[in-house]
Amino acid sequence: MAVTIRCPNLRCRKVLLVPESTRGKRVRCAYCETLLVVPLAYQTKEKQKALATAGKLFSKDKK
Ligand SMILES: [Zn+2]
Repeated sequence: MAVTIRCPNLRCRKVLLVPESTRGKRVRCAYCETLLVVPLAYQTKEKQKALATAGKLFSKDKK
């Protein structure tokens, strides 16, 4: 699965698709040649929600 990242260059801002294997590595934007670091993992909203729910359940169990 490819990773979607947005070019940090304000004059570019292109959405780039890079392979999963480039996580944590630097890639060059194909449009403006800016070097950018591919994030290791995304903290998605869904994941945060799941964690929050798990935390609630856990504190309930503790009581
Ligand atoms: Zn760019």
